[in-house]
Amino acid sequence: SPRTPLRRAEIVIDLAAIRHNVKRLRDHLRTPIMTVVKADGYGHGLVEAGRAAREGGADWLGVASADEALALREAGDVGRLLAWLIMPSEPVEDLVAADIDITAYTVADLVKFATAGDELGMTPRVQLKIDTGLSRGGAALADWSALVARARSLEAEGAIRVTGIWSHFSASENPADPISDLQEKVFGDAVAIAEEAGLRPEVRHLANSAGALLRPGSRLDLVRVGVATYGIDPAPGVEGSPWPELGLVPAMTARAELALVKRIGAGEGVSYNHTWVAEEPTSVGLVPVGYAEGIQRSAGNRATVWVGGARRPVRGTVCMDQIVVDLGDADVEPGAEVVLWGTGADGEPTAQDWAEASETIAYEVVTRIGGRMKRRHV
Ligand code: PLP
Repeated sequence: SPRTPLRRAEIVIDLAAIRHNVKRLRDHLRTPIMTVVKADGYGHGLVEAGRAAREGGADWLGVASADEALALREAGDVGRLLAWLIMPSEPVEDLVAADIDITAYTVADLVKFATAGDELGMTPRVQLKIDTGLSRGGAALADWSALVARARSLEAEGAIRVTGIWSHFSASENPADPISDLQEKVFGDAVAIAEEAGLRPEVRHLANSAGALLRPGSRLDLVRVGVATYGIDPAPGVEGSPWPELGLVPAMTARAELALVKRIGAGEGVSYNHTWVAEEPTSVGLVPVGYAEGIQRSAGNRATVWVGGARRPVRGTVCMDQIVVDLGDADVEPGAEVVLWGTGADGEPTAQDWAEASETIAYEVVTRIGGRMKRRHV
């Protein structure tokens, strides 16, 4: 059970939930899936999340950094794998040798990849990224034709193989934002330019979780699904979203042992600067996680935790190593289990609840949690 045993504080990852979520997503979307496992599998463990995703049917894995891609290979992953944030200072020979698809943003990237391939006697698999409106990674539209032309000539020489063309949405979780329609159009134009130049990429991809779920037309040949893999809704509250029917399960539970329980009297202030003052006598409990574990300070006086079968409010500021929760008159002993967030199935808060309490997104909640908390996979 993810609920036993408990020492101090830990993050428990339900790998069966990841397997289930990938399978459900693949069945629902009817499109090949790239499971995004960057940032340590969104806090769920890079290698473990990657393995569970493959078992659930992930056709590709996607990561940002070269190190993440190589770590997956070292752990035995042999499937298709794309990396998209290679540094100018980083050699790419290891990536090419490890059969990793690498993303080019510029002509300089193409030349570097081709040179590495030449040295190794291999043909690097390269995907071209077009910036369709995020103004982040990728070639600007004005530079696209030159990038495509160079890619085509390097491909004709056998120096690289262009396996994909892709882009990334800016606001796909917000159906009212017209930028997504525009991005789809720009992407279509960019693909047409590449095809006219003679490129025949295996995969064209644009959609993240929200795009894949809310904009079926953006699924194309492949969808890059991150947050939904982990059972987190990319677009909470959006009308018409298929999310409620999907039955995806949050994979992360953050839990801790209650360090101390004590009574305080009416008028007593709690935690630094007494941002909360008890109006009547109550029991407070000490939970051994704080901002050093990645708990947002903005969750102070706003988030709740699950103890003794009920949600209990966090009182006062979040400290470096601890938070204080209000147990009221509940009969709860030190050593009791505190669930900060979990699946929500028993009524406990979810990462989404913590995100709302901290005025952030659930992505940040799950990727930041750590510090002295041990991570355990079940
Ligand atoms: N593709 C790229 C390039 C990304 O950077 C990310 C993550 O932000 C994703 C896909 C997955 O996004 P999401 O977690 O919203 O599915």
